[in-house]
Amino acid sequence: MPSVHDLMTPKPTTIESDASALAALDLMVDGGIRHLPVLDRRARLVGILSVDDLRAALPFAVNVRHPPSPDEREIARELSVAEVMTYGPLTTTSKSSVADAAGMLARFRVGCLPVVDDGRLVGILSETDVLRSVAGGARESALRRTDSRAHELEQLVTELRAERHRIQHQLGRVQRTEQESTREQREVPMDEAEHASHLVQLAVDEPLAALATRRLEALDHALFRATQGRLGTCEKCQKPIQIARLRALPGAVLCVRCAREAT
Ligand SMILES: [Zn+2]
Repeated sequence: MPSVHDLMTPKPTTIESDASALAALDLMVDGGIRHLPVLDRRARLVGILSVDDLRAALPFAVNVRHPPSPDEREIARELSVAEVMTYGPLTTTSKSSVADAAGMLARFRVGCLPVVDDGRLVGILSETDVLRSVAGGARESALRRTDSRAHELEQLVTELRAERHRIQHQLGRVQRTEQESTREQREVPMDEAEHASHLVQLAVDEPLAALATRRLEALDHALFRATQGRLGTCEKCQKPIQIARLRALPGAVLCVRCAREAT
């Protein structure tokens, strides 16, 4: 029988008790995680916050797969983690048997157990971790987890390549239009009014082309990072960057948390 150490997620993402529910939600969305151990200012475990706690407390549909809207962000900003977390959560130790830990999860109907050794948080064990081990053994489940992330990244790269192709195509059209208009200008003399309306049209096209070019640069950057196996890894904390974030900002090299700390 494996020990908790074999199945737990080590060094879990944590949050401080005086942080906002919005910060917690961002971390959950960013990491695709459902539980955050809550630490006090002296880094002691004081609680656990689950996505279900946020669902129960926030007046909108909380989903770890979709970032909240601007309005929802404002609402979540008003609430603090300490107001909605579960205080003094049940814990286990890394040396405990999975059978014991699974027994606690079932008996007390909790979704996860923070793993604490000598007063220090070292990991988190979720129901899902235990179920995975029952389904196929800890090593296989760890591999499968890596596989599905690798698969998601592969799909993302395919999407980004397709988008790059579409943008190049569109930019090609924009450039052709500009060439055509210069040619027209040479062949047919325009009076001043016509020329002015023409300029307005170009001015509308150019900012769009500039934005598309920026997007293209971000896509190129992402595809380059993909060839180096670095796409989706935060350059600061080395944790995974959420796929939805990469879809929105392909050039992102920081996770949401690090990006926010950097500003
Ligand atoms: Zn990071």
